[in-house]
Amino acid sequence: MFTPLPDKPDHPALELEMLEIWEREQTFERLRERNRGGPKFRFMDGPITANNPAGVHHGHGRTLKDVFQRYKAMRGFDQRYQNGFDSQGLWVEVEVEKELGLGSKREIEEYGLAEFARRCRDRVAHYSEVMTNQCIRLGQWMDWENDYYTFSDTNIEYIWAFLKEIHDRGWLYKGHRSTQWCPRCGTSLSQHEQAGEENYVEMEHPSLFVRFPLKGREGEALVVWTTTPWTLPANVAAAVKPDAEYGLTEDGRWVAVARFPDETFVKRAPGSELVGLEYSGPFDNLPAQAGVVHRVIPWDEVALDEGTGIVHIAPGCGAEDFELSRVHDLAVVAPIDEAGRMLPLFGDFHGLSTTEVAEPVVASLRERGLLVSVGTIVHRYPICWRCKTPLVFRVVDDWFIAADEIRQPMLDANATVDWTPPQYGKRMDDWLRNMGDWNISRKRYFGLPLPFYECECGDLNVIGSRAELEARAVSGLDDLQELHRPWIDGVRIRCEQCGRDVERIPEVGDAWLDAGIVNFSTLGWRNPEWKPHGYATGASAGLSGADLPDHAYWEEWFPADWVSEMREQIRLWFYSQCFMAVTLEGRSPYQRVLTYEKVFDERGKPMHKSTGNSIELNDALDRMGADVARWLYCAQVPSQPLRFGYGLADEVKRRLLTFWNSVSFFVTYASIASFDPSAAPAEPQPLDRWLQSRTAQLVRDTTAEYERYWTPGVVTAFESYVEDLSNWYIRRSRRRFWDEDPAALAVLYDSLTQGLRVVAPVMPFLADHLWRHLVGPDESVHLAPWPEPRDVDDALLAEVADVRRVVELGRRARDEARLKLRQPLRRLVTEGAPLAASHADEIADELRVKEVVFGEVEASELRVKPNLPVLGPKLGARLAAVREHLARGEFEELDGGRFQVDGHVLEPDEVLVERVGRAGWAVASEAGVTVALETALDDELVLEAKLLDRVHEVNVLRRDSGLAITDRINLWLPDADLLEQYRERLMTETLAVSVELGDLRVERA
Ligand SMILES: [Zn+2]
Ligand SMILES: [Zn+2]
Repeated sequence: MFTPLPDKPDHPALELEMLEIWEREQTFERLRERNRGGPKFRFMDGPITANNPAGVHHGHGRTLKDVFQRYKAMRGFDQRYQNGFDSQGLWVEVEVEKELGLGSKREIEEYGLAEFARRCRDRVAHYSEVMTNQCIRLGQWMDWENDYYTFSDTNIEYIWAFLKEIHDRGWLYKGHRSTQWCPRCGTSLSQHEQAGEENYVEMEHPSLFVRFPLKGREGEALVVWTTTPWTLPANVAAAVKPDAEYGLTEDGRWVAVARFPDETFVKRAPGSELVGLEYSGPFDNLPAQAGVVHRVIPWDEVALDEGTGIVHIAPGCGAEDFELSRVHDLAVVAPIDEAGRMLPLFGDFHGLSTTEVAEPVVASLRERGLLVSVGTIVHRYPICWRCKTPLVFRVVDDWFIAADEIRQPMLDANATVDWTPPQYGKRMDDWLRNMGDWNISRKRYFGLPLPFYECECGDLNVIGSRAELEARAVSGLDDLQELHRPWIDGVRIRCEQCGRDVERIPEVGDAWLDAGIVNFSTLGWRNPEWKPHGYATGASAGLSGADLPDHAYWEEWFPADWVSEMREQIRLWFYSQCFMAVTLEGRSPYQRVLTYEKVFDERGKPMHKSTGNSIELNDALDRMGADVARWLYCAQVPSQPLRFGYGLADEVKRRLLTFWNSVSFFVTYASIASFDPSAAPAEPQPLDRWLQSRTAQLVRDTTAEYERYWTPGVVTAFESYVEDLSNWYIRRSRRRFWDEDPAALAVLYDSLTQGLRVVAPVMPFLADHLWRHLVGPDESVHLAPWPEPRDVDDALLAEVADVRRVVELGRRARDEARLKLRQPLRRLVTEGAPLAASHADEIADELRVKEVVFGEVEASELRVKPNLPVLGPKLGARLAAVREHLARGEFEELDGGRFQVDGHVLEPDEVLVERVGRAGWAVASEAGVTVALETALDDELVLEAKLLDRVHEVNVLRRDSGLAITDRINLWLPDADLLEQYRERLMTETLAVSVELGDLRVERA
């Protein structure tokens, strides 16, 4: 009834087979059905960008989500399994532009917005299917037919409702300001999109020192420094630090004294005395500069650690410059168009890009004697988060949501959230304290159409729903296929103030509005009536069958008990959904968050296609298998970058193989013994009781780790359990399995079926495969209940833990003394593991010694050194004295591996302890436990070693002759001395019914 297992698992093959079984048996559907009506575990999936195949970092996040949904399902929780796809915005557009070979916004418009929108939707449809298949292969259980897509009309309508609320509160405004601008994408970008460190790269730029001649002061000029020559034609002012000292050099240059301490200055003055002076601008001849008066302004923020201490100010080209223009009433000269090219009023520079214009600018300055020097500089420079083009600044109109009023309510909401790991909650607080107003508009095409209708009467009409749009539309409704450009642009509405016809502004919305609203849009907030398939509207029709639930449902499922995404989502999804939920409902949309760092390669380097160390998710799943990948994901502490690669996968495979072998061992002997799990259990032996307790401890520990959303704790607990199970219980019980001992079989069966259940969420394939070998081919571990807690005999576990420490050290001492384990020894002395005292027989047996003594180990010399990286910071200057005392042997050994030295108590991790065996002893020591083995051999010990070698040899011969484990044999041996001394043992240990003198030979009896 138990089918044997092969030597090792073929993970990918076994997983594909399991996927078919789950499909055939409808395992997931049965699980959901079983849990329906149970207590709720409210999980909200953050939408994944359906724009490319999923990568290994997506596999990481998806695994964590699946692990905890599976855990909660085993515990009987009713859950939503709705997957989300992020499906509109700049990322999709940029990829479709590449596909179509379009290089600019003009080309998109020539191509046609309707066809462009279709292409964007098609791309999302394609990649959402690709990703779905990848996630299924990874083992993720989701309601794949009913995904939410953020480009659905319903999702868009919910954002409209939010924006109308924002407008009613007076938080919505159109800002005229200088923002970071991508010249390729032709749009401004927001603070939260650009904040990631990956959006900065090292770049080489020109570095210029330029003279601005002072008016009315012959021969004197300000000297400024800039790395952006394209901004010089837009210069309107020069800023000095009022309280800094400036000096005039002999050749007529004004600079900050602090910057050039070795210069000789003919005149000195505080910055405040330069304020108000007028100068000739570097490009006064350009039409764009007509009428601009250039003067010196005060600015406390002028840096004195770079440049000249005098800063060139161009309000049309920088955020701070623009702010200064408001304070000092400066002209704003904007030099570039939306593609980053110089405007017509800039003369010969017209049409050049910001890079192309650098050379003629420098040439012109040089020709007119304004160039002091020119070189290059390498510095960190921002690039577009989406297309990697270097950014510039432009002064444009953008739409913003004011953040000041909501800042404190969001901080209060975040204080109610449990963050794992906790330090990420503080990062969220930092983000909220520093967040600027939310720039929600993008000058693009395939995105949320902002429902803003600006009327020339001055009124801003904000539409809050499709129904409102229809009620107020005066034209264009008939062609409104979905709420996207170009169709939405054709709808004009009547101004509520003056009755004029108004058209929509052309801008679309920030994609984080799309993702942030899903706690409302997918759960039916304020929806009066449940609509079957009611979420699958607009572009998502035909892709999803999702319902739009009613408000009562929203009440049941909001807020989420748990969400999980990467750390960068603090400034993205965690932020945007918190912003929206606090606005609409005054509370956080999630109660617990698990967040985690990036995936690196196995040496801890970032993965890049260009460096050849990146791994495709499909490749990883095909080669290592999903369980192994999931194990790597789960083993990692989330606050550290995750290491991922095939070498690490091989290590995981080895550990999983140990468990596989344990199950295989059981199956082999359970078959031989015709073991019946339903039979009344036999009386367990002490080692069985230990395993029962050890298993109860595993259940207790892993349950606690799952409850705190800490997968590395689950992995560690399971790995150490497998080590104990395999290398202690099974190894020490082999003989009982040969003897078909019913207690051993029953206890091992029970332990394996408990262990499989607690590990099933992490490695769902292998766990179910093995479960079916143990419990039955039609049973699934995923439908099994979570193991009930049982009593843990902590005292017994501590005893055996001490025993295992002594045995481990005994082995190490043997290894170092090159004494093979088949060589029996006379005596072992151990100290520091007092709980092991009642297990002396087991220790003697394990380490093959005749006598085990618990007492002081005098057979060694103790050498103690400071562990400098730990002890140095603790002791500081007192370290030297402690070190000397240790070197002279002036210390006292305390309990638990601690030492008293020079008035300090040193903990075990603060010292490096070495015990060196005296002659005739092999010694090993660690963390306060010492084991010493007497190495001297006498004739009896030597003969017994010969016996054990022979037994080993015979058993190899048995196996090589094709004999079954249980076959009895007739045995011939050449060793008269062994036959005389050890006849009985020879027979028992080789299953021989007779043994005679002769050449080594075995035959089946
Ligand atoms: Zn871009
Ligand atoms: Zn009006």
